[in-house]
This record gives sequence, structure tokens and C-alpha cells, in this order.
Amino acid sequence: MNYPVLTIVVPCYNEEEVFQETSKQLTQVIKELIDEHLISKESNILFVDDGSRDRTWDLIEAETNQNIYVKGLKLARNVGHQNALLAGLATASKQADCVISIDADLQDDIRAIRTFVEKYWEGYDIVYGVRNKRDTDTFFKRTTAVAFYRLMNKMGINLIFNHADFRLMSKRALEELLKYKEVNLFLRGIVPLIGFPSTKVMYDRKERFAGESKYPLKKMLAFAFDGITSFSVAPIRFVTLLGFLSILLSILIGGYALIQEWRHHTVSGWTSLMLSIWLIGGLQLLGIGLIGEYIGKIFKEVKKRPRYAIETDLYTKEAKQSSPAPKTSEN
Ligand code: UDP
Ligand code: MG
Repeated sequence: MNYPVLTIVVPCYNEEEVFQETSKQLTQVIKELIDEHLISKESNILFVDDGSRDRTWDLIEAETNQNIYVKGLKLARNVGHQNALLAGLATASKQADCVISIDADLQDDIRAIRTFVEKYWEGYDIVYGVRNKRDTDTFFKRTTAVAFYRLMNKMGINLIFNHADFRLMSKRALEELLKYKEVNLFLRGIVPLIGFPSTKVMYDRKERFAGESKYPLKKMLAFAFDGITSFSVAPIRFVTLLGFLSILLSILIGGYALIQEWRHHTVSGWTSLMLSIWLIGGLQLLGIGLIGEYIGKIFKEVKKRPRYAIETDLYTKEAKQSSPAPKTSEN
């Protein structure tokens, strides 16, 4: 019987305090799923060390020697959560049929992993883990997060609300993901662009059981800004709009200045200054916005994003259809 090989990818940056517990709990989950014939015996956990400066890699290496389910990948330096995760996903895609990504601090409920796998059996390619509530987050993190999702959606970026990087992806979805060659990586924005059948699984997010967040405010803001500027030219459009508005306003102010001039309420030179400041200001903004539009196009071109992903091909006869539902091979 053909069971799918599952790899759980865990990016780790200075996680020596949580590693052992995380490894223990995830191994337990893998063993249970194997026993229940939901996944293959070759399933494993891949810990990606993102250039940690503590003993994280030593711990990972030691664990791989005594735990057959644990594998390790060491990056040469710290490249950040998103890139570390991608490195793990790319490595896992060579052997696994489906991959689950989860943070090393186990804030995401590992019991959801089972449901993820069940959804995979039902034929879903992408399963998003979505938090029920955010009461373990600080008030600040919660409100800024909500504002962020709103802003992103306004700008036409399709994000799954309250979904971080806890998700399952099938091999074929992963292969499509790996075709996105952009350097400014914002996985949460890219995954919904791939397509394929997808679903959500709700879970409760817990607090970090040890160690501290590797996402201080500065990194969080940089991450949010990256998300916006990697997916949207809305800020550029805003400049263009501002230019138009200024020019409109310059007409109004021009009228006002001329009336004042006509009524002799002005000192000499004021009218011409008023007229030119507003008009030139508006024209400049418009010009910047226009240049921005072209830069926006270049920005989209240089990303070389794939333009489509084929789900079923009934034309090419020898096309291998890798359906995510292994159920067919079962009986
Ligand atoms: N992480 C990483 N590289 C970094 C920062 C974080 O691989 O440069 C990992 C970290 O080890 C954890 C995950 O990304 O597994 C999420 O980080 P964290 O839990 O600190 O973020 P938070 O949950 O506070 O948003
Ligand atoms: Mg965390």
C-alpha cells in the first residue's frame, strides 16, 4: 500500500530552549500517524537551522543520530524565517508527498497536523491552519495584525485571515510554489496565488512555551512592509492620485488667487507664486506617479512569477497526474 510521505518542516533560529521538547512532541505525532496508516513510515521532521548563534544546530545534529524521524538542514547564515522555511520546503519537496510547515515554538496546535493529513487524504492540495482567536497575543500584536490584514485586502492582496505559516502543501502545490523566483519572499501572499483545491483548519494558538519571540516590532514592521511592497503597486497609485488631486486643487486655488489679485487684496508676486507652486507641485507628483507606474511594471516583470499552474491536463496523454488523494491506490 502506498502511504504518502509526510515531512514536517521546522525553521529554527536560536531555539535551543525549545528544540528538545518540539522534537519529542513532533516525533510522537509522526509515530501516531504512521501507526494509524495515515502516512508512510518514511515520514520525517526536517529542522532547518537558520544560522543560529546558540547550540540549536548541535542539538539538531545529535538528535538526527538517535531519532530516525529527525533530519537536519543547516543554512550558512541567518536568512530570516521566510527564506529558511523555503529552504526546508525545497529540500523536502525532493522526497515528500506532502509537507507541513510549523514554527519551532509549537505555538500552533500540533493536534491540527492530524486534521491536515486527513484533509490531504480528502484531496486538498493546500490546507491552511487558521487561528481561532488571538487571546494569547498581546493587545498590540492583535490589533496591528487585524489592521494589517485589512490594509492588505484593500490593496488587493489575497491573504488568509489569521493564517501564519502553519500549513500543509502537496508535492504538486509545492512544485508550483518553487517556481516563484522572487527574492523578497512573503509566502503567505504567494501560496493563495498558486490555486489547487484548498481548505482551512481552525486551531487555538498557544503561547510560546520557552524562549522569546524572534519577531520583535522592528522585524514585524519590516515584514509587513515587505508584504505590501512585494505584492502591490497601490502605494505608487496613491502618488499618482495625489498628483491629480493637487492639479485639481491648483485650479481652485488659482481661481481664488486671481480673484484676490483682481480685488487688489494681494502683495505683488503672491498670485503668480501661488499659481506656480500648486500647479508645479501637482505636475511633479503626477510625473513621479507615472514613472512609478512603469517601475511597478518592471517590478512585476523582474519577478518572473509563473503565470499559471496546470491542475489537470487531458491533452498531453503521457502527462503524469500526481493527484494529492492517495486513496485511489489504497484499494
Ligand atoms: N525564525 C527563523 N529565522 C529568523 C527568525 C525566526 O527561522 O530569523 C523562526 C523561529 O525559530 C520560529 C519561527 O521562525 O520557528 C517563528 O518565529 P517566532 O516564533 O519567534 O515568531 P512569532 O511567533 O513571535 O511571530
Ligand atoms: Mg512564535
